[in-house]
Amino acid sequence: MKLQINRQESIAIVGAGIAGLSCATHLQSLGYKVEIFEKSRGPSGRMSTRYGDGWTADHGAQYFTARDPLFIKELDSWIKNNVAATWMPAVRVFEDDQLRESFSKEHRYVGLPDMSSPGRYLAKSLSVQFNQTIDQIERKNGKWLLHTKESEQLGQNFDYLILALPAPQTFALTKSMNKEINQISKAADMRGCWTVMARFQGQPTLPFDAMFVNHEIISWVCRNNSKPGRDGLDCWTIHANPEWSQQNIEFEKDEVTALILNCAKKLGLNCQDAEITTHRWRYASGFMDPKPECHFNPSSKLGLCGDWLHGGRVEGAWLSGYKLAGQIIESQSNSKPSD
Ligand SMILES: Cc1cc2nc3c(=O)[nH]c(=O)nc-3n(C[C@H](O)[C@H](O)[C@H](O)COP(=O)(O)OP(=O)(O)OC[C@H]3O[C@@H](n4cnc5c(N)ncnc54)[C@H](O)[C@@H]3O)c2cc1C
Repeated sequence: MKLQINRQESIAIVGAGIAGLSCATHLQSLGYKVEIFEKSRGPSGRMSTRYGDGWTADHGAQYFTARDPLFIKELDSWIKNNVAATWMPAVRVFEDDQLRESFSKEHRYVGLPDMSSPGRYLAKSLSVQFNQTIDQIERKNGKWLLHTKESEQLGQNFDYLILALPAPQTFALTKSMNKEINQISKAADMRGCWTVMARFQGQPTLPFDAMFVNHEIISWVCRNNSKPGRDGLDCWTIHANPEWSQQNIEFEKDEVTALILNCAKKLGLNCQDAEITTHRWRYASGFMDPKPECHFNPSSKLGLCGDWLHGGRVEGAWLSGYKLAGQIIESQSNSKPSD
């Protein structure tokens, strides 16, 4: 049986994070017409970098690993195109009031020169409409209609709709229409993350570039300038742990910042003379176990992808988008067999 693909059918993807970009890249490489809608002014979602006056900081994903051969191949192409590189930090673990060596032999990778670079690289070859927040979706006469907060209804109807969003945002868009999808998106428990970025005029003398922290309100501390291609003021990213962040997600920024900086001081990072910026991630991490990888309903032509369906990290997000594209292609070959 020969694969017969109807490349005239149009596909809308909501979300230009790494999952949406991976799905779009795979579909477009096979000749599909794909349009991405993204609420922010740039791509990459949680693989993101904050730019300030003389400083930068990766304030979402800190690094990624690559274990699946499909993702390793993708990573190779990112490295070849200078948008990702290996990162070899001096890593320590803080536990029971003591600092110790890390036993992890993990190979770590980062975007080059910042975490959003792989996403920007993928988006360059795709059609992405930025500053478009999809706030309503509707299936009418076999087509998907999208409404945006910025410009009401979009002038185009689509055959397929892919939501490449965190679980709670997927739920918000589908809650009135699809029970099956509601159940899936409700099953993923996503937590927030409070992030503090601290800039120093000099460089604090610490025996590590990155530190995992156990049993404290902070779970991660990292010197951004230890990553390849970063320059400017010495900048440290501090993440509060997911449980504490979620419990305190509605707290005032100043209150949360003071608590995190107090804890950082106990860990050896005194930020008294640093300039501080704090960011709240409402939906930072979470995943389903066992992992569905992605979800596709061939009769409504609605698909879901994202990290929460595939283990909850950068590699999983990319794989989820890639695998959803594969399911869409397969569904077409099943519905239109030919000799
Ligand atoms: C603080 C933090 C630390 C992390 N650390 C690591 C790490 O060290 N290693 C690792 O591998 N992973 C880490 N992660 C997780 C990693 O960032 C994610 O797994 C991955 O980036 C998720 O990609 P995604 O495409 O599934 O979702 P996202 O990146 O969230 O993409 C979703 C996109 O949809 C857009 N969007 C949302 N709603 C709408 C709407 N209504 N209309 C239009 N667009 C919309 C968003 O703006 C976003 O661009 C971290 C995440 C955070 C927040």
